[in-house]
Amino acid sequence: MTDLAARLSAIDSQIADAARTAGRDVTEITRIVVTKFHPASLVRELHALGVRDVGENRQQELEAKRAELNGADALDGLRWHFIGQAQTNKAASIRRNADAVHSVDRAKLADALHRAAGEADHDVLDVLVQVNLTDDAGRGGVVPVDAPRLAEHILTLPSLRLRGVMGVAPLDEDPASAFARLNDVADAIRSVDAEATWISAGMTGDFAEAIAAGATHLRIGSAITGPRPDRG
Ligand SMILES: *Cc1c(COP(=O)(O)O)cnc(C)c1O
Repeated sequence: MTDLAARLSAIDSQIADAARTAGRDVTEITRIVVTKFHPASLVRELHALGVRDVGENRQQELEAKRAELNGADALDGLRWHFIGQAQTNKAASIRRNADAVHSVDRAKLADALHRAAGEADHDVLDVLVQVNLTDDAGRGGVVPVDAPRLAEHILTLPSLRLRGVMGVAPLDEDPASAFARLNDVADAIRSVDAEATWISAGMTGDFAEAIAAGATHLRIGSAITGPRPDRG
């Protein structure tokens, strides 16, 4: 077994343990492997190990990896999740290259993603409302009280499908309490759209707490991929 395969299987058994402890069915939890800063070849290796969901946080890197991996041996069934801060003027590239965008935090970005849908493009982009769980308004995400209004706006854009909420626990707070707040926002969003059931939460350091708090999508990077290469 390679180191990568060993780390992946160790994390998957920790996910299964955390789900069991929380009394949850592990099949309702999607483990996204965050491959940022790693080469496209790592995505290929992960796919060979059965990974079908990967996450990237930079538009240029997402675009470059998809270009590199396209072609005859396109990776079957692989879904790309965009999890980083998105510039409105890069919305077309993000839409072209991602299957789901977790980081929609303003109406302008939702509008730009919608406008980037082709005229004859019947497929719909999955989007999540990113919620800022810190006290710092300058961080990514909409403040919790404004999340339902953004969700309502997204529902007016037919080429976007509202899936749920995404959050990152602040470094200076117990993740359980931050994820409990995210869960409250998730409830509010479900009362706007009952189908918006995804809760994207939990990273290498806090995925067990996220599972206990109801996360449906985990975004796990370094615990699986190993340390990120020096970006020099
Ligand atoms: C990098 C990143 C992750 C994964 O972080 P790890 O600590 O390496 O698991 C998850 N979510 C977001 C938004 C990220 O940027």
